[in-house]
Amino acid sequence: MEKIERKTVEEVTLFGIGASPGIAIGVSYVLDRTRIRPVERAIAPTEVAVEIEAFRKAVRVSKKQLEDVKRGVADRRLAEHLHIIDTHLLILEDQLLVDDSIALIEKNLINAEGALKRTLDKFRGVFETIEDEYLRERRSDIDFVGERLLRNLIGTTQQSLPQLDQKSIIVAHDLSPADTMQMDKSRMIGFVTDVGGRTSHTAILARSLGIPAVVGLETATALIRERLPVIIDGSSGVVILNPGEATLKSYLEKKQLYEFHQKELLSYRQLAAETLDGHRITLRGNVELPDEVDLACQEGAQGVGLYRTEFIYMNRTGTPSEEEQYRAYREVVERMAPNPVTIRTLDVGGDKLVSHIDLSDEANPALGLRAIRFSLKEETLFTDQLRAIVRVAAHGRVRVLFPMITGLAEIRRCKELLEKARADLRAEGYDCEARIEVGIMIETPSAVLISEVLAREVDFLSVGTNDLIQYCLAIDRGNEHVAYLYEPLHPAVLRALQMVCQAAASAGIESGVCGEMAAEPLYALVLLGLGFDELSMNATSIPRVKRILRQVSRSEVVELVTELLEFGTAQDVLRRLGEVLLERFPDIIPVN
Ligand code: PEP
Ligand code: MG
Repeated sequence: MEKIERKTVEEVTLFGIGASPGIAIGVSYVLDRTRIRPVERAIAPTEVAVEIEAFRKAVRVSKKQLEDVKRGVADRRLAEHLHIIDTHLLILEDQLLVDDSIALIEKNLINAEGALKRTLDKFRGVFETIEDEYLRERRSDIDFVGERLLRNLIGTTQQSLPQLDQKSIIVAHDLSPADTMQMDKSRMIGFVTDVGGRTSHTAILARSLGIPAVVGLETATALIRERLPVIIDGSSGVVILNPGEATLKSYLEKKQLYEFHQKELLSYRQLAAETLDGHRITLRGNVELPDEVDLACQEGAQGVGLYRTEFIYMNRTGTPSEEEQYRAYREVVERMAPNPVTIRTLDVGGDKLVSHIDLSDEANPALGLRAIRFSLKEETLFTDQLRAIVRVAAHGRVRVLFPMITGLAEIRRCKELLEKARADLRAEGYDCEARIEVGIMIETPSAVLISEVLAREVDFLSVGTNDLIQYCLAIDRGNEHVAYLYEPLHPAVLRALQMVCQAAASAGIESGVCGEMAAEPLYALVLLGLGFDELSMNATSIPRVKRILRQVSRSEVVELVTELLEFGTAQDVLRRLGEVLLERFPDIIPVN
């Protein structure tokens, strides 16, 4: 670490969104990336040609700058994200953007700067009514391109990217993906921004590069001066300015511990998830975006256990076509080959809202028209998705997973529609011969209670513990007032999980868990002991889970879980689990 100038100034803690984990300790480098303010001005008809040419030139210069960024990227970890720059180039080529701006100059007799501002405002307006985070972030693509165009138009050069002379934490209002790609990675040890969320491109890039980042701080650029001692914790979203001696010491220790674990975990990536007594369990990744597949592979995922397809529906203003879905799925399937990809059909409703899908106001949305109920009601939309899934099966091993099943009739109807999609596609000349394994999510008490019946109808069962716990314990998973009752180790939950495992085993099919429970090492042990064959989780948790699984024997865990199933409260279960395991694995942070 570089020497940090100490001053007797007050320590300040800011809270943002942890966008890329890890701890960085260094000095700030504040980048001037605040928005410029275009000024609209009336022009004389004789100035129209000049303004149009100025506008066209700004487009040409912006394109060239972005092409240069692309050419300059040598880092392999960044190369896979170059499509973001392509998206920005496409925006520059958008006829609407160009034609509308030129039309405004001609018809309204305003300068290019003012015309561009009006066009960009109109573009942004399209996104304004949309609530989901992912799409909001895509609006930032227009902002980044608009900002670049405006600067080139006005002729203000952006503060050039820093030639950092020491390891620095970059502080900016926002960082465009192009900025991030151009930075000197050896000196940029972290960054903080005023805006952005976990799914912003910049956050995704930071995770790929393994650089800690905290975003969405709102006031970072206002509060952080140049060359200020700063600590950022990209896991918790905490940023500390002017850390005192005690804070600095504690974060140096945390940083060391984090890096030690990361290094140690690296060694687990390519090892099998095998217990000491030779029992293997399959660890897969949960993905929401095709971009996450490479990370899942790197972390050692043996396929995708849950591909949440709602994200394709969210990233747009209208419903995606069969072709668009097919292309997105194909990207995931090909990147993951030869390992399987489990495509979960659309799970909207409840807390998952998609702006362009109109769900009527319901008093109890979690118990209303959501997931498979919605798909079975909207058969045309569902069929488009099933057709895309059938088509993509020609490119790799594909499994389909139906969410929130409560009974046999739903499965039968889903299978009928799947077979109809296959027959239609075959008649249209598509190659549809590849087998698609059919699975269901066990998320409702009803599905648990008849899991033995349901298991005979499908190829695999996958438990969505996030929802199963909600429905089993009657606790709204998004309501903070009852969050204390959300207990994964509740005896009712454990018994439900046991029933599902046993049902799958007696039908001779595989059982897995793809809810958050699978990602927590202590819970993962319980799931191993219960007999699950597969655990699917966010990619970065895979090495941690694998590490603990490799340090136990299955027989001892089965014995422990048998004992846990006898307890009457979650607290008793946790206490016993803690007693037995924390002694052996002191570095596991206890769950509460
Ligand atoms: C679950 O319910 O556990 C699950 C994996 O699905 P989601 O969180 O997307 O509802
Ligand atoms: Mg669910």
